[in-house]
Amino acid sequence: MKYEPVIGMEVHVELKTKTKMFCGCENGFGLEKEPNIHICPVCTGQPGTLPVANIEAIKKVIQVAQALNCKIPEFSKFDRKNYFYPDLPKGYQISQYDKPLSESGFLEINGSKIRITRIHLEEDTGKLIHPVKNSVISNGVHPSGADYSLVDYNRAGVPLMELVTEPDIHSALEAKKFCQELQLILRYLDVSGADMEKGQMRCEVNISLSQDGKLGTKVEIKNLNSFRAVERGIDYEIKRQGEALESGEKIIQETRGWDDVKQITVSQRTKEEAHDYRYFPEPDLPPLHSAEVLKEILALPELPQERRKRFGEEYKLPADDIDVLVIKKEMGDYFECVVSELKSWAEVSEPKIEAEKLIKLTANYLITEIQKLLSQSNEVFQNLKITPENFAEFIKLTAQGVVSSSGAQMVLKEMLETGADPTHIIEERQLAQLSDETELEQTIAEVISQNQGPVEDFKKGKEKALQFLIGKIMAATKGRANPQIAEEILKKRLQ
Ligand SMILES: [Zn+2]
Repeated sequence: MKYEPVIGMEVHVELKTKTKMFCGCENGFGLEKEPNIHICPVCTGQPGTLPVANIEAIKKVIQVAQALNCKIPEFSKFDRKNYFYPDLPKGYQISQYDKPLSESGFLEINGSKIRITRIHLEEDTGKLIHPVKNSVISNGVHPSGADYSLVDYNRAGVPLMELVTEPDIHSALEAKKFCQELQLILRYLDVSGADMEKGQMRCEVNISLSQDGKLGTKVEIKNLNSFRAVERGIDYEIKRQGEALESGEKIIQETRGWDDVKQITVSQRTKEEAHDYRYFPEPDLPPLHSAEVLKEILALPELPQERRKRFGEEYKLPADDIDVLVIKKEMGDYFECVVSELKSWAEVSEPKIEAEKLIKLTANYLITEIQKLLSQSNEVFQNLKITPENFAEFIKLTAQGVVSSSGAQMVLKEMLETGADPTHIIEERQLAQLSDETELEQTIAEVISQNQGPVEDFKKGKEKALQFLIGKIMAATKGRANPQIAEEILKKRLQ
């Protein structure tokens, strides 16, 4: 390829705290059904009010910084970023300018390090609502022909973390993977829901095309509200800039918005229109002693990358299975509970069943069958009615051949619906496989005497006739016969 894409990311994340960043208002992430219910004189910018920094939010950013290998300077401070817009009642946003909470870290994606420039803390803004003319609004009828905007300050002051990377990303796919891994880390740390569709995680990219090592002009893309939009938006921009350069055009330094309906980027403003924020230190907040906060932070939980490595070593599962169990953290936790039950049982099982076989069976049933059944009933894994103990019991019964694979499907379906234990279901529904030889002997004797033709065929060497006879045995036992054992007995008798 003639041009190499050079991509940097800027990610905003709403932090999951009890209260807002600088006041005691409840943090509802701006998702409240009623507008302006979580507001107070501080977050609506009334004169004479004073902000107090939320220590919970500061701790969360420091945790993220640690997880992303960042340096945490001893001191940090807040600054005012000045601009005038109705979603910002104070006329400025409290943010961090030259002394962010953390700097210079990295996140590894497929073996390459994406450097992180900085992670800082700021406050979110309110939301503007522009009612359509003549439309009905929640508290009454919109006056015909009137033209105005409404403002909701529920989100104003929600703690917002901003993360900026170096331009170390070189493809749309890599950018998407970066965002996905970051989201997973935020969820493992439990610092944010990081749901892009709910605006809890917002991605922006800056992108330029370099040619022969010479950097091109940077274009910023905003409004990327899903992982798909991140990938598509970047791909579109790579193509647009490449074609422009090919036809001799100059790339303008500008901000473009992603239009998800038309699947294109559209110019929003050029560099000449950019704001001058006139940052200055926030006089109402003291400097932050991050070193002090750091002492209060306990050890980090296991992170996704560590879990991938450990699952590989401990359970020896294929990479694809591990990925599912890491991305779906609850399922991964559940898997570990089930496996710990099974491991101790495997040691005393009679006849011996290897733990490794049980682990594989558990992963298969969880990833394929349970996921399939859940999606059929429109349920989520978090609401699974099956306890890990019962699931382990189910795996044991399946591994021992107490139920056939089709019987197992029925048992699992019922377990999912009722949460009942599998032994009980097998008894009640008479799903146990007939493995008892004396019980099978009689049925087999009957099948032989009633099917003399196929018996003769088999004796003459027609292998297919054996399958026909096994089919008859299965039918006679209503599918409960253990096919392997039935085949053994049948062969012995026909010799
Ligand atoms: Zn408030």
